[in-house]
Amino acid sequence: MEQICVDQKIPVLGSYDIIVAGGGVAGVAAALSGVRRGKSVLLLEKSVILGGLATLGLINYFVPMCNGRGKQIIFGMGEELLRASAEFGYDTIPEAWRKGEPEGADVQQRYVCRYSPYIFALVLTQMVLDAGVELRYDSVVTRAVMEGTTCRGVVVQGKEGAAFYRAKMIVDATGDGDVLRSAGVPTVAGQNYFTYMGKGISLASCEAAVQTGDIRQAYERISGGNINLYGQHQPADIPLFSGLSAQDVTDYLVRNQQVLLEKIKSQPRFSRDIAMLPMMPQLRTTCHIDGDYTLVQEDAYRHFEDSVCAINDFDHRDYLYEVPLRCLVKAGYPNLITAGRSASASGYGWDILRVIPPAILTGQAAGEACALAIETETQIDRVPIRTLQQRLEQAHVMIHFPDDLVPQAAHTADQSDQNVPVQADDEHF
Ligand SMILES: Cc1cc2nc3c(=O)[nH]c(=O)nc-3n(C[C@H](O)[C@H](O)[C@H](O)COP(=O)(O)OP(=O)(O)OC[C@H]3O[C@@H](n4cnc5c(N)ncnc54)[C@H](O)[C@@H]3O)c2cc1C
Repeated sequence: MEQICVDQKIPVLGSYDIIVAGGGVAGVAAALSGVRRGKSVLLLEKSVILGGLATLGLINYFVPMCNGRGKQIIFGMGEELLRASAEFGYDTIPEAWRKGEPEGADVQQRYVCRYSPYIFALVLTQMVLDAGVELRYDSVVTRAVMEGTTCRGVVVQGKEGAAFYRAKMIVDATGDGDVLRSAGVPTVAGQNYFTYMGKGISLASCEAAVQTGDIRQAYERISGGNINLYGQHQPADIPLFSGLSAQDVTDYLVRNQQVLLEKIKSQPRFSRDIAMLPMMPQLRTTCHIDGDYTLVQEDAYRHFEDSVCAINDFDHRDYLYEVPLRCLVKAGYPNLITAGRSASASGYGWDILRVIPPAILTGQAAGEACALAIETETQIDRVPIRTLQQRLEQAHVMIHFPDDLVPQAAHTADQSDQNVPVQADDEHF
């Protein structure tokens, strides 16, 4: 490939304790937890609202945050943001969970929430501004500026052109590992099914909304590709998408948009409309860190000394996991950390880790770890782990799942009872 060298002097626009690249749910949580520890935080978002896939991407559904038997596992900012999503818009928090953990141990109803994506986005903006985070929209982080393996800051492309922002600690919450890759941190690329879901309205759905007094009824699922996380019914003639080049993303979008147009062409023009289309590619995995630990499905019920949060399987009751700090870092890169869907995991272990509630918790842990690394003048992968865990516990994060929630069957060869999927919604996860 032909190459040219572009030499350019760019302005230095600011200096911060922590820069968070990407304002999805993980980035928002990282920014909030850093600023709540008294650190100066700059949050850089390339789009024009916060929330990432959870808002822009129309994935407006907190998967279950409990073990499927009435015990809440995900607290901390997972709980805080779920409640925030429901404050001013519609919600689907089950009655049993509305006031917190339900009475009695045998509650199979799971703790979930569908919410208004755009109202949640507006609330997130308010939350970060109220907390004192400095926010820049329309700002694409184009590269990390490295001195050896230390990141000195990031180059950002905005309407003013390219500019440099300096920071002591950098959180890559772009979901795509944009900062990690440009910093030379080892990463793993992913592949994606043909999924493209939007929201439509029709005369019939509007009538249903009026009749029930529930605005949610006004929206209907519309889709181009309609493939779930298990890849069922992926068309044989459609490739898997990497999402790591403009050509690939364009191909994914164009194919999906054409399928959607074909689907609606035959419908009466005045009877329906498209209300929302995803404004970012609905790609589950593009690129994640090849971290110091890679979480796998078989890590269920395993305790880690460096756990930063306990999480649960969203699609199968009982299964519990802990997420080691090592999933977010790579030794040798002293001030870079990631969170959300670019954390280190593989196979179904990665699916469990990337969904909205765990993405928020890893974001919260990343922000806390940055603050602690600055205060203790340590490398991000060597922060005093007990102090980090205590701080997260003070912020209501469950660090280690209680052993009495581990089913007896998990200790024997027969786990058949535990393998019953708990499909909480007709979602695509
Ligand atoms: C089809 C599909 C269905 C899903 N279903 C569910 C579900 O039902 N429930 C659930 O809980 N989870 C679901 N998920 C997973 C979940 O939505 C995501 O994994 C989670 O929201 C990831 O959050 P994040 O903050 O890590 O990343 P993202 O949401 O990807 O946020 C990254 C943010 O960074 C910004 N950004 C990217 N690059 C740059 C850059 N270079 N500079 C500046 N900003 C940048 C983006 O604009 C975005 O705002 C689904 C995902 C998909 C794709």
